[in-house]
Amino acid sequence: MKSRLTIFCILAALCFSVAGCNGTKQADQEKAKYVFFFIGDGMGQAQATATESYLAYKEGELGGIGRLSFTGFPYLGMATTYSANRNITCSSASGTALATGFKTNNSVLGLDPDGEKLRSYTYMMKEEGYRIGIMSNVPVNHATPASFYANAEDRADYYEISLQIPDTGFDYFAGDGFLDFNGKDGDLEDIDKIIERAGYTVSYGMKEYEAEKDSSKIILCQERNRKASSHDYVVEQTETEDISLEEMVSIAIDRFSADGKPFFIMAEGGTIDWAGHDNRTMAMVEKVLELNAAVKRAYEFYLAHPDETLIVVTADHETGGLTLGCDNGSNLDWEKIESAWEKNGRKDVMGEKENADLNRSANFGWSSHGHTGIPVPVYAVGVGAEKFAGCYDNTDIARKFIELTSK
Ligand SMILES: [Zn+2]
Repeated sequence: MKSRLTIFCILAALCFSVAGCNGTKQADQEKAKYVFFFIGDGMGQAQATATESYLAYKEGELGGIGRLSFTGFPYLGMATTYSANRNITCSSASGTALATGFKTNNSVLGLDPDGEKLRSYTYMMKEEGYRIGIMSNVPVNHATPASFYANAEDRADYYEISLQIPDTGFDYFAGDGFLDFNGKDGDLEDIDKIIERAGYTVSYGMKEYEAEKDSSKIILCQERNRKASSHDYVVEQTETEDISLEEMVSIAIDRFSADGKPFFIMAEGGTIDWAGHDNRTMAMVEKVLELNAAVKRAYEFYLAHPDETLIVVTADHETGGLTLGCDNGSNLDWEKIESAWEKNGRKDVMGEKENADLNRSANFGWSSHGHTGIPVPVYAVGVGAEKFAGCYDNTDIARKFIELTSK
């Protein structure tokens, strides 16, 4: 790996010069003091619309915007998601684009295609006095959250990614434990011990968090899943999760907002993607609703601080190639989907063929078990939200955040 570059400084300078060309001083620009960035991993337009369709069905209706907390936001954008070397991105390449403003190759995290280190704007914000919170309902060292603090040649270098947490100095992390808790071969020291020695408190579950919450640097993990595994995740999570994404965001707001200092919160709904990979319609809806509840919490904060808060909700890519309608009539049979879910105890335990048959008979088309290359929606409200209207690339989202938070 080559030495650290100052690409990030060049990017910041570029933003400044662009503002200068327009005759507007950077310092005169409206700044977002409180920033919430929500990423629904794998949440394309169809996933959001399907969830609103389900909510409408529950009310005896067919559809309608605004049933989710973010679809009614005043500004809507569309972002392309391709990576540096593929039409169809993976979460580390798109996470890197969203966190740094630069494209990279699939499976690479926080490095450019030549192996040069990229620096997330979270570090710049930290230097400018923002508190930084990074949270997800998947492990803390998984690709999307890791893009906001780490650099790795392979996104699967989980242990090495975790080792980079203490150097960030970031204020609050939350997620579902650590993948590769003892390294790839299971023979390395417990990762939480190393992180705690370096000055962070790692709390497992709300009870432990309550006792330790006065620590200035904290990593909050689910109580029963410290050695997180991505295997059969959507199935297992129902049984192991005790802290919701909404609670993670609420805790971040409580920790950050008491003294009026600026903050940046990145919260990922990571399991929407995992439900999408498995083509599980109802599980996907449940996971979009989990993200929705977290956004709702941020929106309440926005209503109390409308002149200082920015909320942006987007996806890193779409997963599953979901379409509403698959040549099986002109309705979506939510009753069928929901009753199968209820019959299985609201768990994702159906066999693959049975699930595929269910989707087809209920008129949901899933064209892939992977990611797709269609653009994703970007919903924004608050200070500078108008900058997120229009069509652009996912790297532009990072540039907009830099513009709205740098002095
Ligand atoms: Zn995925």
